Amino acid sequence: MALRNIVVEGDECLNKVCRPVTAFGPRLHQLLDDMCDTLAEANGAGLAAPQVGVLRRCCLVLDERTESYVELINPTIVSASGEQTGLEGCLSVPGKWGIVTRPYKVKVRAQDRFGNWFELEREELTARAFCHELEHLDGHLFVEHIDHFLTDEELRTYLEEEEGE
Ligand code: ZN
Repeated sequence: MALRNIVVEGDECLNKVCRPVTAFGPRLHQLLDDMCDTLAEANGAGLAAPQVGVLRRCCLVLDERTESYVELINPTIVSASGEQTGLEGCLSVPGKWGIVTRPYKVKVRAQDRFGNWFELEREELTARAFCHELEHLDGHLFVEHIDHFLTDEELRTYLEEEEGE
């Protein structure tokens, strides 16, 4: 198990457009394995390579349906529909939360760690995570979508309302 350091907002790695992954060998596999360990340790819903200082187009997203991490290499969104508005945070913006509107259902096309292309369609939190992680690969953070971070009071109210549903 190898943990990598997660960079935080202000680090220039988070503002760069990442390059495509072109080599699907041991180095990529080591990166993905380390990212998986790092994400599990942080108990997050997703992690993109630039968050560990690697400017390549790959990320991990927690797939709620299988309760496992799916590896997305060179991912693109091929279709998106509907809308959801909800709480969003980021391991690179620790302890801060905002309300972000995203598509409800998103289909991504990506390569696996061996270079094989596949498509995956998901809704709700996994769809939200697809959008969030793919934006990291183009140097964008969720904070660009919000007008303010939730106050502790707002966060508490939001979570209470969620629980009540
Ligand atoms: Zn993030």
